[in-house]
Amino acid sequence: MQPIMNTYGRLSATFTHGKGAYVYDADNKAYLDALSGIAVCGLGHGHPAITQAICAQAENLVHTSNLYGIGRQQELAEKLTAVSGMDNVFFSNSGAEANEAAIKIARKFGHEKGIDLPTILVMENAFHGRTLATLTATANKAAQAGFGPLLDGFQRIKYNDLDAAKAAFANNPNLVAVLVEPVQGEGGVTAATDEFMNGLRTLCNERDALLMLDEIQTGNGRTGKYFAFQHFDWHPDVLTTAKGLGNGVPIGACLAKGRAAEVLQPGSHGSTYGGNPLACAAGCAVIDTINQENLCTRVSELGERIRTQLHKHLDQTGFVKEYRGKGLMIGIALNTEDNAAGIMKSALEAGLLLNVTAGNVVRLLPPFVLTDEEADLVAEKTAEQITAYFAAQK
Ligand SMILES: *Cc1c(COP(=O)(O)O)cnc(C)c1O
Repeated sequence: MQPIMNTYGRLSATFTHGKGAYVYDADNKAYLDALSGIAVCGLGHGHPAITQAICAQAENLVHTSNLYGIGRQQELAEKLTAVSGMDNVFFSNSGAEANEAAIKIARKFGHEKGIDLPTILVMENAFHGRTLATLTATANKAAQAGFGPLLDGFQRIKYNDLDAAKAAFANNPNLVAVLVEPVQGEGGVTAATDEFMNGLRTLCNERDALLMLDEIQTGNGRTGKYFAFQHFDWHPDVLTTAKGLGNGVPIGACLAKGRAAEVLQPGSHGSTYGGNPLACAAGCAVIDTINQENLCTRVSELGERIRTQLHKHLDQTGFVKEYRGKGLMIGIALNTEDNAAGIMKSALEAGLLLNVTAGNVVRLLPPFVLTDEEADLVAEKTAEQITAYFAAQK
């Protein structure tokens, strides 16, 4: 029997080192990384500022627990609240755990208002993680299969359907929060409409409910703002992030503002590792680097550049149904009902790392440190793979 539990159908490549937008295998074959470890390594591989921060912190102190003050955690909390305008933060080790904290805040917020069965409004095609509560909030039936009983306290509506949200609030007095991704990543790289996001903010204000944004994938510069909600002129009540925050060192964060920031008190939540010095040193270096190198602006530029190139290569072919996403979250919905996951394998063989999600959406999540030439290469190689896929279907 294999010693690793069989939870992933893995592709046949193993990488040994990386630099910038490239990773390499033991034979030194280079792969252009247009996936960034699933939106994690936004600063690419081996970024000197991150390497230096991790190494220096490891030499000093790796872990002490949350029973004591943690200087690095304080520092990261200050940076994160400054960059987001949120009031405070709880640190976890992963995205799912950050969402667990958000779900617990929503429930306790509800109980404090006298609602005994607090319910959270979630979306079709949502992905919020693999723990039992976040799996319940996730819309994927295949991911849920076999793990029942799932949790009570979630109600689902169609994404981008503001009327459905209004009806849900009108009919369900137990709704205490909305949990939503500003751009659905796993669900097909679908961006929320401005009308939907603005409408949810208004609705939550009117109904005294918490607007909770899952920015685990969209945060840390990925969409061209530090957080995707900054494309709008309001704040969420709760904001979760993870992936890009540590550039590969596991860390998650649940930020809150206003009354939501006062719900958790000593004894009500915790984590042994959460916010430890090593993870927070990486997080601090990520935020500093994104700010110093003006990477949010660069993400918007690169996103535009890659989209323009994709249009140039693919618009005459009829292979593309729709381009989706924001910034460097790029979805190419293919004109086929067939599963196109095979493109991941053929791209790998051609030295390109990308992903296919929701069956037929080619997903690019490249690092922010791409040069213009590398960005053009991502578009060119992706178009080649899509073209080869359709040629093989004939
Ligand atoms: C990846 C992701 C999660 C889960 O994060 P983990 O670190 O894998 O637990 C939750 N929500 C969204 C939107 C994600 O993209």
